[in-house]
Amino acid sequence: MTWQARINTALDERRAADAFRVRNVVEKGAGRFLIREGRRFCNFSSNDYLGLSQHPAIVRAWQQGAERYGVGSGGSGHVSGYTTAHRALEEALADWLGYPRALLFISGFAANQAVIAALMGKDDRIVADRLSHASLLEAANLSPAQLRRFAHNDAGQLATLLDKPCDGQQLAVTEGVFSMDGDSAPLAALQEAAKRQNAWLLVDDAHGIGVMGEEGRGSAHLQNVKPELLIVTFGKGFGASGAAVLCSESVADYLLQFARHLIYSTSMPPAQAVALSASLAVIRSAEGEERRQRLNGHIARFREALRALPFRTTDSQSAIQPVIAGDNSRALSLADGLRERGMWATAIRPPTVPAGTARLRLTLTAAHEAQDIDALVEALHVAGQ
Ligand SMILES: *Cc1c(COP(=O)(O)O)cnc(C)c1O
Repeated sequence: MTWQARINTALDERRAADAFRVRNVVEKGAGRFLIREGRRFCNFSSNDYLGLSQHPAIVRAWQQGAERYGVGSGGSGHVSGYTTAHRALEEALADWLGYPRALLFISGFAANQAVIAALMGKDDRIVADRLSHASLLEAANLSPAQLRRFAHNDAGQLATLLDKPCDGQQLAVTEGVFSMDGDSAPLAALQEAAKRQNAWLLVDDAHGIGVMGEEGRGSAHLQNVKPELLIVTFGKGFGASGAAVLCSESVADYLLQFARHLIYSTSMPPAQAVALSASLAVIRSAEGEERRQRLNGHIARFREALRALPFRTTDSQSAIQPVIAGDNSRALSLADGLRERGMWATAIRPPTVPAGTARLRLTLTAAHEAQDIDALVEALHVAGQ
C-alpha cells in the first residue's frame, strides 16, 4: 500500500463509522456562552468548571506577568526558564496539597507521559483502570513495563493483578474523577490494594482539582488519601492550562534528572505561572467556595431533572454529566438537536469511549445560571423524542 492509499483508507474508515473528527472554529469557547460564526450558544462543553478562564483578577495577573517577565520563558527550566514565578507557584501548590514538592509541566498530557516514562522499566508493571485517560494509557503502552488494566473502579481486581508475581516495581494508576463518565474512583480501596504489594499509586485528578473538597484540594484530599504521585492539571478547574506533579523530595529530584519532557522542553511562560497563582488564590478563597457551591447546585438540579427523562447516564456527582446515546448517529443527532435550540454540547464517540456508548458529554460550570440548566433539560427532552 502506498502512503497515500494508507492515509485514504484510514480516513474512509473513520467517515464510514460516523467517527470523523473535525474541529469547530469558535470566536470564544470557554465561559457561559460559546460564540461561533457570530451566534451565541449556551456552553455545555468546556472544562472551565469554575468559570475562572474569564475571571478579571486572573486575566489581569496574566497581563501583569507578561509586562514583568515578557511572553516567553526563554528556555527549559534546566537552562534559564525557571523563574521566581514558577517557583512561587510550585511552592503554593505543594503547600495547598500537603506535599513536599510540586513540579510544573506544560500540560497534563506531558506530565503523564514524562512521569511514566521516567519511572517505569522493563521488569515493572503498570496496573491501570481500564477507563484511564489516553495520556496515561498511551504512556503505559509506550513504556517497556508490562501493562495490565483492571475493570473500572474495581479495587478487588486491582489487588488480584498486583498479587501476580512481578520482578520489578508496580504502579497502580487511576483518575480522581473520570473524564468521560464523571464518576469518582474509590481511592482508599485502591490505595489499600496497592500498599499490600508495596506498589505506588498515581492519581490523575485533572477533573477534581480545584472543584472538589475543602479549598478545592480535589478527590484525594476529599477521600483522605495521599497517593505517592498526584497529577493536577490547570486546563479545567483552574481555567488556564499546564499541570503539576505532587510528590516527595526525592521523587521530585529524580524527575528533574530523568523526566525528558521537563529537560528538553521550554517551560511554561512565567506570566502563565503568575496567572495560575492568582487562580489558585481564588480557588482557596471564600469566592472559590461560593463557585464550588454554585456548581454543585447546578449538578443536583440537572441530575434531579434528568431522572424524568429516558436517558442512560452514569452515577456522576461531578460537573461532567454524560447522556449516553449508544450509537454514534444518535449521539450526533442529540448534539444537533441541542444546537438548534442554542446550546453547545459535544458528542463523544469511540474510540474515545467504549463502543456502543457514544454520548453527549455535558459539562456544567459555575458560570451557568440556574435557568441554563432548566433550558438544557427541556432541550434534551425535545431532542430525545
Ligand atoms: C484533560 C486531561 C489530561 C490532559 O491534560 P492537559 O493539560 O489538557 O494536557 C490528562 N488527564 C486527564 C484525566 C484529563 O482529563
